[in-house]
Amino acid sequence: MDMHLPEGGEKTRKCKACGEKETVIIEPLGHNWDDGIVEDGVKTFTCKRCGETRTEPIPSSCPFFELFRKILSMLESKLFHMIFIAIIIL
Ligand SMILES: [Zn+2]
Repeated sequence: MDMHLPEGGEKTRKCKACGEKETVIIEPLGHNWDDGIVEDGVKTFTCKRCGETRTEPIPSSCPFFELFRKILSMLESKLFHMIFIAIIIL
């Protein structure tokens, strides 16, 4: 894995023979995150370049899922009503 500086920067290296120092400019190179792994309600991304990790919480309830659940429960209660009425009529 290559080391990289997300914000760029300078690095000083020393000549092994004469001891002279040289400053090397490192180009900014952002993290290259992978697709992430979901674990315990948290998504963990790992940088493919340096191995650094960052986590992102996964929302506990998606608004669409909530809506879907509401519609489903509405349909369910309607169905129960229909069955209930059908039983009474019969
Ligand atoms: Zn990185």
